[in-house]
Amino acid sequence: MLIVMAHNATQTDIDKVISTVSDMGFTAAPIPGSERTAIGVLGNKGYVDDTTIRDLPGVQQAIHVSKPYKLVSRDFHPEDTIVDVSGIRIGEGERPVVVGGPCAVESEEQILKTAHFVRQSGADLLRGGAFKPRTGPHTFQGLGQEGLRLLAKAREATGLPIVTEVMSPDNVGLVAEYADLLQIGARNMQNFDLLREVGRIKKPVLLKRGMSATIEEFLAAAEYILDEGNDQVILCERGIRTFETATRNTLDLAMVPLVKELTHLPVMVDPSHATGKRSLVIPMAKAALVAGAHGVLVEVHPEPEKALSDGPQSLTFPGFQKMMADLELLQNFLKNS
Ligand code: PEP
Ligand code: MN
Repeated sequence: MLIVMAHNATQTDIDKVISTVSDMGFTAAPIPGSERTAIGVLGNKGYVDDTTIRDLPGVQQAIHVSKPYKLVSRDFHPEDTIVDVSGIRIGEGERPVVVGGPCAVESEEQILKTAHFVRQSGADLLRGGAFKPRTGPHTFQGLGQEGLRLLAKAREATGLPIVTEVMSPDNVGLVAEYADLLQIGARNMQNFDLLREVGRIKKPVLLKRGMSATIEEFLAAAEYILDEGNDQVILCERGIRTFETATRNTLDLAMVPLVKELTHLPVMVDPSHATGKRSLVIPMAKAALVAGAHGVLVEVHPEPEKALSDGPQSLTFPGFQKMMADLELLQNFLKNS
């Protein structure tokens, strides 16, 4: 960290910063300039909390050299992490995976029918929400534990590992009994107690980007999970809030190659929540693979017009089949190009 003093800072102000830095266990290296003094902080291992320095008299700015995340960063872990979800390997150098399934588990018939269909079409994992983070309380909130039970039944029938969301730290144990991959939704990306709790279990985690989260905040959220000892984390872009209202969210595809530069964790893309519109899902799923995503997660429903949540963005069965065919062609092209 570099502390930049104000133009009119006094020697007393400078001395106070130097003594505060040394109280923190670091060494302060003043760099006097013709207009102002800067003070380098030496001896830190990674990010320094600047809270006690920022407001000292005469301090103009604290410039961070280290990032607020370390364990997820390539700086400290250059090799790619491969996440193993019940035998399905996800990450760099592996074939991109497809996660398909309804927004929410609605009934035994709905989830079994969808599971069989996505399996036959070549999907790798089945998704379905049992605990749903809905915007308002008067809409379908998910079947809860019954939904988890139905997902387990669908896994038994098809062999597909299951991905489902966990919303509260109290439910991590329960959801982990059923799920192969625990999803943390966009609305909970900064639920730090939840992040720590999934960091303490031995199951992989799919962490979705918050609706208005910067990439730095997203990676700092993942850092909480790794900090508790769980490095089996997949990052998932699902669109962010912008001024644009023609799509549900704005799909930030540039984050895929960028996050691959910054971290060793696998990155997936969810074009369903990113666009909110069925007709845009296949083009954006293809674009995600071109950008280098390690997989896509899409919503599919036997009768989207009757879906209890997210029908307008859910692929129909023929739509899902078309996406799988398109992705296979694209994959063959990318492999040989
Ligand atoms: C979901 O996957 O069903 C979901 C609610 O996604 P997000 O958290 O990205 O909105
Ligand atoms: Mn949904």
